[in-house]
Parts: sequence; structure tokens; C-alpha cells
Amino acid sequence: MTTHTATRAVEGRRALSIRQPWAALILAGHKPVENRTWGTRWRGVLLLHAGQRPDPHATTLAARYGITSPPTGAYLGTAVLADVHHDRDCGGCTAWSEPGVWHWVLTHPRAFAEPIRAPGQRGLYTPPTAITTHATVRAVEEVA
Ligand SMILES: [Zn+2]
Repeated sequence: MTTHTATRAVEGRRALSIRQPWAALILAGHKPVENRTWGTRWRGVLLLHAGQRPDPHATTLAARYGITSPPTGAYLGTAVLADVHHDRDCGGCTAWSEPGVWHWVLTHPRAFAEPIRAPGQRGLYTPPTAITTHATVRAVEEVA
């Protein structure tokens, strides 16, 4: 890979902060859709950040999948944002898809070997260079 294409790959990456245990359920391959009140035209490799405050309503559900105290306030892995569509156009594409919102279809989830502790941001954002160049992130991408 040339330096030029490597630079473009970094520029094209985005990150999304997701509350736990939803982030863990996505990265474990159980949940292929993230529900959002807003959509995006952007597609590509998404860094998944787990928000600081978990969703207390999902604790019991996550436990059924063996997820009991997933890390918060950290980058945990990557997934490919392959499609974004509204519920009105699919009528509930998966058991995880909520009515009346946008469905962010995530494929190829890959968990990092270790969480990278760092604050997240709101919305779909460009992750800090310290994260995209982190050895843990690069290790996942080299085998992708
Ligand atoms: Zn859908």
C-alpha cells in the first residue's frame, strides 16, 4: 500500500459512540443493526466507541448473550457500515430493528484485543489520529 492510499483510508474513517451493552452485542456478532433517529450517506469502516453510561434497560437482554459488564468509555472495535435505511422502507429488517427510526446495517464486526480508553464524541465523527494510528487498531486492520 502506498502512503497516498494509506492516508486516504485514514481520512475516510469515521467513529460512532454507542451505549453499552449495544456496542458489545454488535461486536460479538449478535446485533447487525444500530438504531438511530438520524441517517447518513457515509459508508465505510466505522470505529465503534462504547459510551461512558450504559443503557440500564438492556442489562437483562445482554446477560442472555453472556455480556455482563462490558467496557465503557473506550474504543472497542470496528465494523463496516454497509447500509443505512429507514424503517419505513424495510418494515423491520431484523429482530433488533426498531420501528420509526433509521437502521444502520453493520457487517464484519471485529473486536480489538484490548479496549482503547478514550472519550467519544457525538454524532458520526472523525476519530482522533491517536486512535486511528493506535497499534491495536492497526493490528485489526492488517488482518481485515
Ligand atoms: Zn431495516
